[in-house]
Amino acid sequence: MSDHAQRVAIVTGAARGIGAAVARRLAADGLAVAVIDLKEGDCGATVDAITAAGGRAFAAGADVSDSAEVAAAVDAVAAELGPPVVLVNNAGVLRDNLLFKMTDDDWDTVLGVHLRGSFLMSRAAQKHMVAQKFGRIINLSSSSALGNRGQANYSAAKAGLQGFTKTLAIELGQFGVTANAIAPGFIVTDMTAATAARVGMKFEDFQQAAATRIPVRRVGRPDDIAHVASFLASEGAGFVSGQVVYVAGGPLC
Ligand code: NAD
Repeated sequence: MSDHAQRVAIVTGAARGIGAAVARRLAADGLAVAVIDLKEGDCGATVDAITAAGGRAFAAGADVSDSAEVAAAVDAVAAELGPPVVLVNNAGVLRDNLLFKMTDDDWDTVLGVHLRGSFLMSRAAQKHMVAQKFGRIINLSSSSALGNRGQANYSAAKAGLQGFTKTLAIELGQFGVTANAIAPGFIVTDMTAATAARVGMKFEDFQQAAATRIPVRRVGRPDDIAHVASFLASEGAGFVSGQVVYVAGGPLC
């Protein structure tokens, strides 16, 4: 790629939370950013924040678990911004339940968004990365990959993403493409707010209780994850591949 071309990133699930923070950070780093979420209209706040700060952004609506929607969205990004060479597979959902109450749909939805979604997005984006001889794939795993009560579906998906990441690193390294996973601990977003509501706790109390179990004695913020994504997406991180970086305020959450 020419020295002067602006690199293009895709961040999925970037309408809010961690994805929005990663999208804003990559734009601040100088990349043009495609903001993908289920509904294009929900991406407006992230796109506006990026453009207000002088960056370049484009919104696309797609369900990452739908092959045709993913292909169309990646084509639209390439046409609008240029070939995507950074992909952050961040879109996610929870369907928590103890195993004996977990439905087929709980399982399929979570595996579909996290695992199948990351597979479909990576497959669609890698051809641009291989053509450019440069790429950075960053998958959002979770400390729940180590096991978490009520999350058989989610922990399986997040552990699966770690194996997926290592395999992408092995297959794509020869084309200048790295693949790494970030495994966040407790991050303050709508997702953790929903978990607090599900267990019947006020979100502030839920955060305080979590902070007492975290070595740095605070919960995480979306910018904590964006900072690591920025590093992994950078040119200088080209010798870091197939890694899982736990970002959890300590070795375990
Ligand atoms: P969030 O619920 O605030 O945001 C998730 C976003 O993904 C939403 O905008 C949602 O609309 C979008 N999304 C959901 N399904 C989609 C689909 N099929 N296609 C496209 N977009 C879809 O969640 P968050 O806390 O910002 O989490 C972001 C990622 O980080 C997720 O993968 C999550 O599992 C992971 N994670 C979060 C935490 C945490 O504590 N918040 C911890 C570990 C890992």
